[in-house]
Amino acid sequence: MRIGVLALQGAFIEHEKKILECGAETFEIRQRHDIERSFDGLILPGGESTVMGKLLRELELIDPIREYIKSGMGVMGTCAGLILLAEHISDDNTVHIGTMGITVKRNAYGRQLGSFCTNADFKDLGEIPMTFIRAPYIESTSRAEILSTVDKRAVAAREGKQLALAFHPELEEKPLIHEYFLNMI
Ligand code: GLN
Repeated sequence: MRIGVLALQGAFIEHEKKILECGAETFEIRQRHDIERSFDGLILPGGESTVMGKLLRELELIDPIREYIKSGMGVMGTCAGLILLAEHISDDNTVHIGTMGITVKRNAYGRQLGSFCTNADFKDLGEIPMTFIRAPYIESTSRAEILSTVDKRAVAAREGKQLALAFHPELEEKPLIHEYFLNMI
């Protein structure tokens, strides 16, 4: 299985390492021609969604990526990647890729709680460690299923082969979520 990792900005190298640990192949998506090869799934990393969205448009990657996802390619978006996938961003008219039926709130935990680690239940995996960095949360869903909540706020959701996480699984010791994603697709 070969997984493309969007490598424009943010925490992409950590995702590549986790995919390799799972025994799958990975490559970086930096330009339009990088997505012309065949691949099985896509990771949209954490970083800054506004910057990534702007670069995706400038590099003419956003429309083909949206079409790949709509035609059934698996995708995992973490943190800023979750924001890129959301069909609505709370208090904002911006839509980036917009393929997932979720409304997200950016920088949702305020300054004090901007970054924190916790353990919480994740559907089918049990309790797992989660690291949040200026994280969004999922305010509501239209189509997606919620997989995990922290302090009554949804932090993970799935819709078909799309997986969105408010936290950073690439920073944990074990590649549990990456295995989950690979099994899912
Ligand atoms: N705050 C960032 C955003 O709004 C997301 C933070 C992250 O990806 N760690 O895009």
